[in-house]
Amino acid sequence: MPYLTLKDINKIYPNGYHAVHNFNMEIEKGEFIVFVGPSGCGKSTTLRMIAGLEEISNGEFLINGKRANEMGPREREIAMVFQSYALYPQMTVFDNIAFGLTLQGVDEDVIEQKVKNTARILGLTDYLDRLPRALSGGQRQRVAIGRAIIRKVGVFLMDEPLSNLDAKQRVTMRSEIAQIHRETGATTIYVTHDQTEAMTLADRIVVMKEGYVQQIGTPYELYFQPENVFVAGFIGEPPMNFVRGTVKGGKLTFGDNVLDLTKKLGDKTARYEGKELVFGFRPESIELGRVDGAYQLEAVVELTEMLGDNTNIYITAGEEKAILKVDPHDTPELDEKIAFSVPVENVYVFDGETEQVIK
Ligand code: ADP
Repeated sequence: MPYLTLKDINKIYPNGYHAVHNFNMEIEKGEFIVFVGPSGCGKSTTLRMIAGLEEISNGEFLINGKRANEMGPREREIAMVFQSYALYPQMTVFDNIAFGLTLQGVDEDVIEQKVKNTARILGLTDYLDRLPRALSGGQRQRVAIGRAIIRKVGVFLMDEPLSNLDAKQRVTMRSEIAQIHRETGATTIYVTHDQTEAMTLADRIVVMKEGYVQQIGTPYELYFQPENVFVAGFIGEPPMNFVRGTVKGGKLTFGDNVLDLTKKLGDKTARYEGKELVFGFRPESIELGRVDGAYQLEAVVELTEMLGDNTNIYITAGEEKAILKVDPHDTPELDEKIAFSVPVENVYVFDGETEQVIK
């Protein structure tokens, strides 16, 4: 039996706004799940319904197969780490972490041992006597996480826990959260709008858009087997390139380049004659030069961005634009006309109307 089950969960706010539509998912014990999508797509709303902070308008939420819709947050054995860490400024790190247990009247010896153990997991042992204002942002966030993980709960919910940190701290804290998850093995549901955080942390990712789940899968599945244009464009940085057009004679055009769809779609191509299709390829899955059997294209270099480990090349072909990611040693000149190839297996074709991938 799955640990958590979300069955056709819907949220309609009192003002009538339908924020989440038919969310379905089963979550196993110990999984690290990330909800990702642009701001306003319903991630926090879903998380808050799981936490018991927001009523479920329609559908069922089960814990170990038992209906939990009517359970309060405590009864659900769920702890939540919020975006703003809200520590008590006048309390030491020790007291902040111990707070929940102190409230419950837990034995002092037990509290001491638990706080020390939690501090060890979080690397806060040397900071237990400090006040929050004497900590870095990353350390404060760890105290907030400590406050949640010290209680023996079944599920940790994290809502954009890294959004108040600077870029460097975010990367450090990201690997720490992964480490904490390995140590505690606790089921975690994590909300972010950042696809890199999702890709690096998750066992499975839920991609959402405008209240609808777009795809659920491992980072590998989302990257290599995106089910629609939105997921294909959301996962990966820089995003996938898309060439949209009406199929004429089994072909699409990218500037002066002719893309023969039969190479990818075979016999299916005829079905799409006169219809709109989207031809997608990732910036990093191209090769410079001409490769036999691949889609061979030409374009003009408009801008290059040398990033150290790679160079992003912004190209144009007629009215069309795309980005290519190449080895910095292969960086072309501005305004140069370059040839590049896209292996057929690296091409994704989507139905222009439904935006679903054509398999
Ligand atoms: P996300 O976490 O993905 O940024 P939210 O779940 O916070 O998105 O919000 C989803 C949508 O629901 C947004 O359009 C938001 O404006 C709307 N919303 C959130 N809370 C309320 C509320 N209390 N009443 C009405 N609409 C709300």
